[in-house]
Amino acid sequence: MAPTVIVWFRRDLRLSDHPALAQAVAEQAQIVPLFIFDPYLLQHPETGSGRVQFLLDCLDSLQKNLDYLGSTLVRRYGDQRQVLAQVAAEFKADAVYWNDDSERLWRTETDCSVTDSLKNLGVRVQVFRSEALLPAGGKQTYALKTFTPQWYQFLSEPVAPRPQILPPVAVKGMDELRSLQDLDLPKSDQRIPTAGEREAHRLLSEFIHHKAPDYLKSLSVATQASQKTSRLSPHLKFGTMSARTIYQQVRQYRPAATKWEKRNLDGFISRLFWRDHFAQKLRNLPRCETESYLEAFDQVSWSQNEDHYQAWCEGKTGYPLVDAAMRCLNATGWIPFRLRALCATFLCIDLFLPWQWGANHYMNKLIDADVAIDHWQWQSHAGVSNRGRSWFRVYNPNKGISKIDPQGSFIHQWVPELADIPVAGFSTPQLYGRDYYQPLVEHDEARRQALAVLEPIKRQQKRKKKSAA
Ligand SMILES: Cc1cc2nc3c(=O)[nH]c(=O)nc-3n(C[C@H](O)[C@H](O)[C@H](O)COP(=O)(O)OP(=O)(O)OC[C@H]3O[C@@H](n4cnc5c(N)ncnc54)[C@H](O)[C@@H]3O)c2cc1C
Repeated sequence: MAPTVIVWFRRDLRLSDHPALAQAVAEQAQIVPLFIFDPYLLQHPETGSGRVQFLLDCLDSLQKNLDYLGSTLVRRYGDQRQVLAQVAAEFKADAVYWNDDSERLWRTETDCSVTDSLKNLGVRVQVFRSEALLPAGGKQTYALKTFTPQWYQFLSEPVAPRPQILPPVAVKGMDELRSLQDLDLPKSDQRIPTAGEREAHRLLSEFIHHKAPDYLKSLSVATQASQKTSRLSPHLKFGTMSARTIYQQVRQYRPAATKWEKRNLDGFISRLFWRDHFAQKLRNLPRCETESYLEAFDQVSWSQNEDHYQAWCEGKTGYPLVDAAMRCLNATGWIPFRLRALCATFLCIDLFLPWQWGANHYMNKLIDADVAIDHWQWQSHAGVSNRGRSWFRVYNPNKGISKIDPQGSFIHQWVPELADIPVAGFSTPQLYGRDYYQPLVEHDEARRQALAVLEPIKRQQKRKKKSAA
């Protein structure tokens, strides 16, 4: 008799290149596709309604694709251990299959206890590799020498086949769980991007065929980056497309590309690599979810100025580029890399606030928020993660305008108070009779004061590294 297998969807909301699903199909199993809303993640302080709305939209799209193949998606709410035990009993499941993924230390810990409790119930568990991540195993698993070759090797392996047909699922009393209200979450007023597998494929094709030639040169320009980067980040977050599919489609196109396009495509792939590398690092250093990699920086007397923090969150710092970026983030759930970086150094250096505060707001507002990328990037921009580097990267929020928003159109769009002021007037809007926010701090002086505290710690860390070598 065919076994009954629960395929547990997590951050892999797709049917293509889904190794756990493909294996269940290959075994001709009775398949129960399951998604669990866990209150731990939903109520986490870093969870925002906008991202959950995107998740719900991805689930609706997955549901449609499953329906089309004759199956359906079982949605449940509750503690993963309890829900899996209940669903296994309800469907008399022989096994639960899932793809390994990374999501906080909590994920690693619950995966272990879920596995133990299912095994105790006599339910077989099989975990599949769908990302180029290695089990935690110390520094050698994230050292570039080891991680890089295995990353390329994994991404070159054949993708798992997409099922053509699936067996029906007899679901009784299925929970609705289709809206933020059903999940007891507040409404989101963000603009939510289109979700689902089909959209991810459209974005990738658009990137390869139309955007790639301008990719690298657009990264630093606010209005161009939003048009010329792939915009795949929320899809990678929830796995509507695998990194392996992206890599292979880019590789397939590469021979036909011009030299210039190749440079751009390689730049894009290198960013995918860093995404996975951050995940591998966090898997090995889970304390860095909340603490600085260089612990000495957590002993610094960072400012605790709540008013400054609030002004930064709301885009009212008096620095037009920071304010435009923060307002764009709050409204759309996305800003390009350079603006994420500039606003991060503004928070950590100019306002001298702990990076964790800034990361918390980004995680709440970004639709693509991914704890591994986000928290490593925050640490890197706060300068608290790299022992070898003695300097701090600090952006000048006014001088930066000439590179990041040379025409001023991004600022004009997001800071209507300054709508008809020329670029040259952004740093002195008061001279144009505008009642704009006074700068919270004076950049050069704030930078000097912050570095006076931080640089000696960095030098000490560097010396420590040298003497340990
Ligand atoms: C402080 C800070 C916080 C960030 N937080 C996040 C986050 O929570 N989630 C997130 O996906 N990205 C984050 N980034 C990285 C980057 O800004 C976004 O990945 C990128 O802007 C997403 O747009 P895209 O998909 O069009 O990117 P593309 O340039 O088209 O890149 C393709 C994919 O590569 C990965 N990627 C791109 N840039 C980076 C990078 N610098 N580091 C690691 N991976 C990268 C992403 O998965 C992205 O979707 C952060 C950057 C900074 C400076």
